[in-house]
This record gives sequence, structure tokens and C-alpha cells, in this order.
Amino acid sequence: MKVWRSRVGNADTATAPRQGSSFVGVDVGGTKILGVITDGLGAIEQDRELQPTPEAPDLLAPAIVEVVRTLLERNPRGVGIGVGVPGLVDHAGVLHYGPNVQGVLGLDIAGRLNEVFDLPAVAENDGYLTAVTEHRLGAARGHDHAIIITQGTGIGGGLIVGGQVLRGANGFAGEPGHMLIDRFGHRCACGRTGCWESVSSGAGLANIARDLVGEGRGSRILEAAGGDPTAIRGEHVSAAAALDDPDAAEILDRFSWWVAQGIGSLIALLDPSIVVLGGGLSAISEEFIDGVSGKVTDAVVGGLYRPVVPIVAADFGAEAGALGAALRARDFVING
Ligand SMILES: [Zn+2]
Repeated sequence: MKVWRSRVGNADTATAPRQGSSFVGVDVGGTKILGVITDGLGAIEQDRELQPTPEAPDLLAPAIVEVVRTLLERNPRGVGIGVGVPGLVDHAGVLHYGPNVQGVLGLDIAGRLNEVFDLPAVAENDGYLTAVTEHRLGAARGHDHAIIITQGTGIGGGLIVGGQVLRGANGFAGEPGHMLIDRFGHRCACGRTGCWESVSSGAGLANIARDLVGEGRGSRILEAAGGDPTAIRGEHVSAAAALDDPDAAEILDRFSWWVAQGIGSLIALLDPSIVVLGGGLSAISEEFIDGVSGKVTDAVVGGLYRPVVPIVAADFGAEAGALGAALRARDFVING
């Protein structure tokens, strides 16, 4: 069996994939595992497989293996596997910690996939892979300095600096969701209080809705959640907003303010030429993005004296991470 685990390029093991080869890309989310198979160059899916993310931590790796197995059985030309996982993934592809996959610690998923399928396998942070997709094929194409934010269960991200997705010393760079933004705010999935994610992700939208309900408002949203404030989710807000509910509009206004504060800090830090917003959050609409854009100038130092940074919707939806995983799998097969 070949050893493919190291991410260090190795001319002896690097091989050009045969024409017609396929690459499996898997994105592990807080609630779903999406696998796709592509040519590793573009965005056309040859096949896909979707399964729920198991709640028990020790069932996560078998579930990922199962998604890959299903795709490879249906598509025997698969020659490499890429996996995106939500959390801190080191240079060797080991997941050290992920707040949205609690209890999964020290998971060497690439090593496991390599053992099971005897194919080169690589694991990365999911936000990193989304950034690869948007940078190479999507809304951030042609931008050497870009911020890609994915708002789903949590917040993921990828930072393009000097034409490359930033990795950092350990591979852990690009976790804007856990910047502290409100010390007296909401509890975050990571256990701390007041992370940006706690007011700017799907869970954050629900937190802000609960705040409004606590003020005695948002009756329509509370009703949609069966009268239980703890059952309020982002979808309830989006559904009420679609019916022109003024309380839902207020929630989205507060939400977009928090989103803008985080983006303002990131612009101050990185000076990008574009900010891309993506992810599975159903509240993300053109109107929402306009609302955020309108608030960012006030949220960034010298906002009136710097060029306006366009904030745009991602070109890819919930499949961005899985597509990026397939792109990365092809790179890995060629370059290690
Ligand atoms: Zn956090």
C-alpha cells in the first residue's frame, strides 16, 4: 500500500491522473455529509450522495467511509478522495477539534480512507475548501485578496491572501466565526461567549430571534416554532420575513448589523478586494447582502476613505465544500 498521508509534495509518488479519472469530494457538515464526484477541475458533478451526520462521534468516520464507498461503487473511475471537515485540521489532515462535531477529536480521516480504499486521500478544513472553489471557479475568481464567509450551522471561512488560501503555522487559519465580538452576548457552540458565530450564523439568527421574543415581540415566529422559544430556528425567521412580518425584518436588520461588524473587522485586518458570502443559510438573499453592505462602511476603520469592498453572494451553494474537496483531491494526486 502506498503512503499518501503526508501533504509534503513528493516527486516519487506524484502521478498525473489518467484522462477520464474522477475525484471524490466529501463535505462533512453539522447536519449532513455531502459527497460528490467530479473531474477535479470544474464544477460538474458526475454523481452525488447525501447522508445525515450521525450524532455519536464514533460513527462519524464510518459514515464518511460509507458515502465514499457508495460513490466509488457507482463510479469506478475514482482515483482520489478529498474530505472537508468543520474544525481545526492540521497540515497532515488530522481533525483536532470542531465545535459543530463535538466529541470528534484527533480524527485522521484521510488516513482511514486511504486504508479502506487504497487511494490517495486528503482532509482539509471545510471553509478552506469552499474558499478554493470560490477562488478557482466562483465569485472570488481573479481576486488575490478575498474573504470568503460561509454562514451555515456555524460560520466557516477562507482567507485568500496573495493569491493563496491562508493556512497559518499549523493549518488552522481562517476561523473568523470565533472572533470575540460581544463579551456579554450569546453562548457559542465552542463553549465561549460572544463569538461572531453566535450572532451571525444560522444559530446566531435564531439567537437574535429569541432576543426579540424575550422583548415580547415576534409572535408569528414563536408560533411557527410551536410556542417554544428554544425551538426557534433561522428558517422560522426566513419564512416570516417572506410574509413581510415586521418583527422578522427587525431580526434580519439586527442580524445584518452583526454580520457587518465581523466583516468590518476582517476588512481592517486583511484589506481584501472582495467579500463573498455563502453557505446554507436561507436568510442570505440579495436584500440581505445589500443590508450588510450598507452597514460595513460604518463598521470598518476609515470606511469613508477606502474603496468600497464589494460584498457578493457566493456562486456556489451548499455544494461548494464538496466540490472544493474534489478539486483538492486532484491537486493532491498530482502534487501531494
Ligand atoms: Zn466560538
